[in-house]
Amino acid sequence: MNNIADLYREMDIDSDVLGLSDRIIEGLKERFKAIDETAEYNQLKVLKAMRECRVSEACLSASSGYGYNDLGRDTLEKVYANVFHTQDALVRPQITCGTHALAVALAANTRPGDEILSPVGKPYDTLEEVIGIRPSCGSLAEYGISYRQVDLKDDGSFDLDGIKAAINEKTHLVTIQRSKGYQTRPTLSVSAIGELISFIKGIKPDVICMVDNCYGEFVERLEPSDAGADMVVGSLIKNPGGGLAPAGGYIAGTKECVERCAYRLTSPGLGKEVGASLNVLPSFYQGFFLAPTVTAGALKGAIFAAGILDALGYKVFPGPDDSRHDIIQAVTLGSPECVISFCRGIQAAAPVDSFVVPEPWAMPGYDSDVIMAAGAFVSGSSIELSADGPIKEPYTVYFQGGLTFEHARYGIMRAVQQLKNDGIYTDAVLW
Ligand SMILES: *Cc1c(COP(=O)(O)O)cnc(C)c1O
Repeated sequence: MNNIADLYREMDIDSDVLGLSDRIIEGLKERFKAIDETAEYNQLKVLKAMRECRVSEACLSASSGYGYNDLGRDTLEKVYANVFHTQDALVRPQITCGTHALAVALAANTRPGDEILSPVGKPYDTLEEVIGIRPSCGSLAEYGISYRQVDLKDDGSFDLDGIKAAINEKTHLVTIQRSKGYQTRPTLSVSAIGELISFIKGIKPDVICMVDNCYGEFVERLEPSDAGADMVVGSLIKNPGGGLAPAGGYIAGTKECVERCAYRLTSPGLGKEVGASLNVLPSFYQGFFLAPTVTAGALKGAIFAAGILDALGYKVFPGPDDSRHDIIQAVTLGSPECVISFCRGIQAAAPVDSFVVPEPWAMPGYDSDVIMAAGAFVSGSSIELSADGPIKEPYTVYFQGGLTFEHARYGIMRAVQQLKNDGIYTDAVLW
């Protein structure tokens, strides 16, 4: 047996769902071609950096203890700086997650009396406690660093008058979140970020502009650091880890900014000199090498999902034809049953824990029950196919990832099949 439809049937996908999915993919050929071209560009960019930085077999060895003279770690940081076109970078397993990387970047580059400005509305949930928007032990607010925010206008554009009015003598650092995260504003393109940064630097040239780059790496040919950002920050269990990095985060930016981050991450006086890489370097290098094509697969998965779920009558954000600047797809399913079915379908498609049936549950930091589907090789990795949905109005599921497009495609088909099996799809005429 070598027929793909037979194998899909054995894997619980019926001919209705396969037929619809084939039709949707047929209509996406041109968009997929453009994504492949971006992946090709970014693959070359990473390869060029690895060649120019003379990555060698010795770079893949482990270091222990203090980690002095860790050639592999230091060279990898040069590779990141080369790819992001920055003066320096910090890429470490000791950075525990994206939030930690952002917290280090913010704390390292502000001093008591300084003010942080977010000109793009509320930052990612976890940053509310880092900054002290929600009172929290150890927040920047406790160290006398204040915060100001200017929301986007209703149409998603920058409130330039509001931003101008908010910049004052204390404004020291501007934080710009590229991805919408789990909000419904548009994700910012690199060119929009570039325009925002020029506007802000036109008012206050010495302000530090930091971009939360989570979920955005390699989606476009340029990164925010190519558009004037002083620092770009992200997590290695999202795009740049390529699915292989088991943990970690990065900060790439100007020499001064990265140096301050290093002194904050390790210790004043020690900075970048310490920090054993243990055994992670092969996966950091290989994951970064694969990241452009892995990101492309996830992006195709998101567009395919938008297409098929839109065809089924659900509200999707971004829409199937919208331009993409991150890998997150939101789908408003409209009822708790749909959210649960969808997440169970995604879980059933996982390579790990496919037999587990997810249930909605109370989670720390959320104000409603949440259902999560994740069957990942790396725990919590969201470059792998994963979905989560808060059980509250308007019953929206957010999902992202897929280490290959083929897996993302199967996962989404399996989720659609689950909705169909459970009798809760909206537009039966399609089958
Ligand atoms: C994921 C994410 C973060 C935080 O990363 P964690 O690794 O979950 O701590 C911050 N900002 C954005 C936009 C993200 O997507």
